[in-house]
Amino acid sequence: MSRSYISVELRRLVVNRAQQLCEYCLIHENDTFYGCQVDHIISEKHGGLTLAENLAYACTFCNRCKGSDVGSIVLHSGEFSRFFNPRIDQWADHFMLDGAMIVALTDIGRVTAKILDFNNAERLLERQTLQKMGNYPCAAALKRMIV
Ligand SMILES: [Zn+2]
Repeated sequence: MSRSYISVELRRLVVNRAQQLCEYCLIHENDTFYGCQVDHIISEKHGGLTLAENLAYACTFCNRCKGSDVGSIVLHSGEFSRFFNPRIDQWADHFMLDGAMIVALTDIGRVTAKILDFNNAERLLERQTLQKMGNYPCAAALKRMIV
């Protein structure tokens, strides 16, 4: 996948704005094995620009699962829904944490949780481990989890 150049300043803005969290699953960068990456919310393939308002910080897992997708089909309705957009959506409007599970509350939440594979066994185990250490959710993540 070809990627546009992201300047040091723009990358810094994205990282600081995200408080070093993956803006999708809210894991802190320091708690990830592979770190976080700058994500095009609307992928370049779909015309998304390399501008602050179209960029998010995402863990490697979320970013890899999201790929160039912009949404998916909601199982129960067969309708298309876009993914959660950290620039215009509030996390707590679309998801809630139940134990280590990220539960979707809306169609936007459902397609995002499904395609980004929030609750696969490996990630649940990782979150459970972080919870035992008191690292998930971290204080910054907890703020985003509260409406
Ligand atoms: Zn993530």
